[in-house]
Amino acid sequence: MSANIADLPGPFAARRVIEFEGPYIAPDVLLPDAPLPEFQATRAGRDPRFYKRDTNQIIMANHGVLIITPRSKILIDTCIGNNKHRPRNPHWHMRTGPFLDDFKATGVKLSEIDYVLCTHLHGDHVGWNTVLQDGRWVPTFPRAKYLLGRTEVTFWRDAIAKDPELNHGSWGDSMQPIFDAGQAVVVDDDHEIEPGVRLVPAPGHTPGNVMIRLEHGGQVSYVIGDTMHHPAQIERPEWSSKFCWDKNLSAIARDGLLKAVADTGAWVIPAHFPTPTALRIESHAHGFCSAG
Ligand SMILES: [Zn+2]
Repeated sequence: MSANIADLPGPFAARRVIEFEGPYIAPDVLLPDAPLPEFQATRAGRDPRFYKRDTNQIIMANHGVLIITPRSKILIDTCIGNNKHRPRNPHWHMRTGPFLDDFKATGVKLSEIDYVLCTHLHGDHVGWNTVLQDGRWVPTFPRAKYLLGRTEVTFWRDAIAKDPELNHGSWGDSMQPIFDAGQAVVVDDDHEIEPGVRLVPAPGHTPGNVMIRLEHGGQVSYVIGDTMHHPAQIERPEWSSKFCWDKNLSAIARDGLLKAVADTGAWVIPAHFPTPTALRIESHAHGFCSAG
């Protein structure tokens, strides 16, 4: 399935290519610092779009965000992927989903993607970097430059050298083939892709986690990856996910983002928020809330 995202300001179009959307894990599995009654008291915890109370499951999505600018087509985050050997996570293991058909239904060809950008290198953000072809993993997007933040690549390359099974082994099938094909481009964490489109460092979820900032005529939108995982974190930015490398830094990044976008009309597009996904932030006496 693919879906339009709220009209971004300026010349940018955004679509989600949805690999998964639905009830997933319990809130305290994702957000271990959130006591259940406090989670259920947030606006998101009371909203059936974001929390299934009878089964105690948060509603989550995995989607890639396709951004079309006047100059280029950029795919941000490539989800879990098919045929990936992930025995420690049954939800990720040997998937056979229709992501590529859904991608093609956007009208954009795989060969038209100019840039693939992974906000960070966890296994659910790099999967469709590659596809299995004649027993080999090859880049899914044959013409794309795969932009990779320098801090993130340096961290994981060192860590994987010591333990290749980190991140469910995704470096071997989803990253190394991109380097082998000569399509990996390691860039600064604040790299400008083109005028008005740049990376913004947001370390915390991982050491080199980045967001993408789109600006036109003073109007800004952000594609934020896993800087937030669930809408409850808008009200409670201090709740970092279980999957965050440094919970404190992650909370600081989230708080900084919320302060930067609150009351500005900026659109924020996270990697795991279910429909409607894009949101704007308002401030109030006690913090922040979603305007939508
Ligand atoms: Zn993620």
